[in-house]
This record gives sequence, structure tokens and C-alpha cells, in this order.
Amino acid sequence: MKFASASHPDEVVSFRDALFTGLAPDGGLYHPIGAPDLSTLVPSLERLHSFQEVAAESIAALLSPEMPADQARSLARRALPFSPVLRRVDEHILLLELFHGPTCAFKDFGAQFLAAAMEALLQGETRRIQILVATSGDTGGAVAHAFHGRANIDVVILYPSGRVSDLQEKQLTTLGGNVHALEVQGSFDDCQRLVKEAFQDGTLRTRLRLSSANSINIGRLIPQCLYYLFAGTRREELRGSAPTICVPSGNFGNLTAGVYAWRWGLRVRGFIAATNVNDVVPVYLRSGRFDPRPSARTLSNAMDVGNPSNFERLKEVFQGSWEKMASRIEGRTVTDARTLDTMRAVHAAHGLLVDPHTAVGYAAALDHLAESGQARDAAESAEEQVIVLSTAHPAKFADVVSEATGIVPDMPERLAQCLRLPKQARQVGTTFRELSEYLLESFG
Ligand SMILES: *Cc1c(COP(=O)(O)O)cnc(C)c1O
Repeated sequence: MKFASASHPDEVVSFRDALFTGLAPDGGLYHPIGAPDLSTLVPSLERLHSFQEVAAESIAALLSPEMPADQARSLARRALPFSPVLRRVDEHILLLELFHGPTCAFKDFGAQFLAAAMEALLQGETRRIQILVATSGDTGGAVAHAFHGRANIDVVILYPSGRVSDLQEKQLTTLGGNVHALEVQGSFDDCQRLVKEAFQDGTLRTRLRLSSANSINIGRLIPQCLYYLFAGTRREELRGSAPTICVPSGNFGNLTAGVYAWRWGLRVRGFIAATNVNDVVPVYLRSGRFDPRPSARTLSNAMDVGNPSNFERLKEVFQGSWEKMASRIEGRTVTDARTLDTMRAVHAAHGLLVDPHTAVGYAAALDHLAESGQARDAAESAEEQVIVLSTAHPAKFADVVSEATGIVPDMPERLAQCLRLPKQARQVGTTFRELSEYLLESFG
């Protein structure tokens, strides 16, 4: 598989180059070109029992011929020792739980694979690389855990002081070793600006070997296709016809990965893009108009995105055509009040606790089923199954879960352990000079 940006389709780069550069030189996002045809591989995935086998075979096919098949298989197995769980809730709804990784959120899949791939591709080199990331809270923990202990890699995470939750702060400050947390006395925007300045600074660029691990890196997107391929080929849980897949979305990386899996050969009836009131994409899908706007705060805060960057990639898949995109993806908006109601209702009906992001997806799936039940003939809608992606463990959002249901979710041991460890962070101001001095002193 090769990659290019939408505005320079002729400047084709390898997986390795796309991984280490992050952004194309023109500032655009890399997207796969000459999409691999997995239509013969996909049916054979049904016979594979574990997620690791599905991941190994799929990654070998996707990265061929750049990476030898054996190396690709072993990379996938090493990177992703945890598995998604496809849970049937009722006749029509299944949850695809993506929170069984080290930090209990789906971002573990992308971050762990990216880190393992970088480590594998750096093997045999003597010069270390430095990964710089700014986080508003959610990504930092996944990136910290993914890169912890990797050979030849240091990771520096900038986060805004006092503006991330306790658990989020602990997830990115307690690992130590090659994971360095910088507590910036400023906002998330300051953190992002500092990282951007570092990438543009001549001295840092010659003395260090900087790379990024943010969510737009194609190395985080590709592994997210794997759980769609896994879920879509589970014959025991699915009744035969192709499922509808509902994705709680913010920056739209997760949905884009699903659309890639479909384009490469996975059978999918259609997608639902579920958002909170930050619904620029659902509005586009209904009206054809794309109007980014400042984000509003909601209970599902990892989806509070006003100008989703992966929209560019989605548009490319559908050749810029609104009709084509809208015929495959249905947009649905869910308010905070509805999110709380849904958490309460799911618990009452099924004894299940879901986090607020998953609840947005669940509500959208219910609305979709209610509408399509009226629009289509009874036999077809009786058959429809919607897979809702469950993006975080309920214990990561315990306050909201207990507000909705009156129940405090049990905390997985790996989260509880993180909370017991001491925070190790270096305080820095918002001037670039401070960051630059720190980087040169530590890694120059
Ligand atoms: C990041 C995140 C999302 C949104 O995923 P995108 O790929 O940005 O659309 C949804 N739920 C949770 C819990 C997240 O952390």
C-alpha cells in the first residue's frame, strides 16, 4: 500500500515514510492510494478464531510488498495482544467493545500499532527518535502506554496544567523511563503551538530526530480497520446479512477506518456517523453544506470537535461527491439529555453500563432502527443488525455513568493501579525557548 495527500496525488510515499513524516509536505493528510483488494481475504477471515490471527493476516496483506509477510504478521501479533469483544445486546444491536487495551479506550489500537511499527522499522539504527505530542487529555495516555519501553524512541507529551482529568493525568505521567510528561502552564492550544514551533525550528530539526504520533498519522488509522474486519466476519454473532455499523465520532478517524475496510472488501450495509451536538458532519450529510464551527462542551468530550480533520480523508474516498457519501453514511445528532437517558435505559433493559460516547452511538442506532423499520418492508428490517462501536470503558467516565444510572462502575485493575502511582511531570511555561532548551538538554 502506498500513500499520497489529496492535493498531490502523484507524490507517492511508502508506509514507512508516511509513518515517520506524519503530515505530507503540502500540509495535507496521507491517504491510501491504489486501495488493496481484500475481497478474497475477507471470507477467509471467518475461519480464524482470534482477533490476533485476523489482524496478522490483514496487516500482512495490507503492508505487502513493502513489508515481508512474516514480519508484518509478527508485528500485528506483538502490537495488539488485546482483543475487541463483540457482544450481542438484543435482536438488532451488538456492541463492539474496543476498551480492553491498556488504557481502556479504542485509541489503544492505533497508538500501540504505531509504536510497534516505528520500533520495528527503526531496528538496527543507532540514532534515537523523539516523538512530540500535544494532548488535551484523551490521546496522551494511549500514546504514553504505547511507546513506553520501546527501543530507540523517546516520547515527550505536552498537556495543559489543570485541564485534564485526574485519571488522564495519571495515565500519562506515571510511566517514567522513555516517557516524558511536560505540564504546560497554559491551554491545549499553547501545547499545540509549541509542538508546531518545534517541528519548524531549524536547530531542533538538525540536532534531533523529531516525529509525531498524533491522531492524523496514517499509522494510527490503518490498525483501526482491523476490528471492523474482525467484527464483520463473526458469523456466529451476525445473522448473515451485512451489518450496519454505527460509529460515535469526533475527529472521524474511527469512521474513516471503517469506510476503508468496506472499500477494500468488507461487506457492510451502511454506516451511521453518530455525534453529540458537535455535528458538522451529520449536518453535511443531510444538507451537503460543510460549515466547521467552534466546538461546544458536552458529556462525550472526546468527541467535542468543531472541524474534524479526517473529513478530508472521507471526502477523498467518495471522490468529493456528497451524493456518494450520503448514500453510504447516515448522520445522526444526539444531545446530552438523550445521552443520559440512553445510559439509563440501556442499564435498565440489559444491565449494561455504557460510557457517554458509546451511549451517543447507541441512541443513534435506536433512531436508525426505528426509522428504517417504518420505511422498509418488515422482513428486511426484522433482519437488520447494527454494530455500535463501544469506544471507552464506563469507568473512564464514572461521574457521568453514575449521574445517569446511580451506579459507580467497577474500575479495571490497570486503571486503579495507575491512580496509585506518583505523578512525574516537569512544569514548563508557554515560551518556545523553554521547550527548546529542555529538548536540546535532554536529547540533543
Ligand atoms: C477519540 C474518541 C472518540 C472519537 O473518535 P474519532 O476517531 O476522533 O472520531 C470517541 N470516543 C472516545 C472514547 C474517544 O476517546
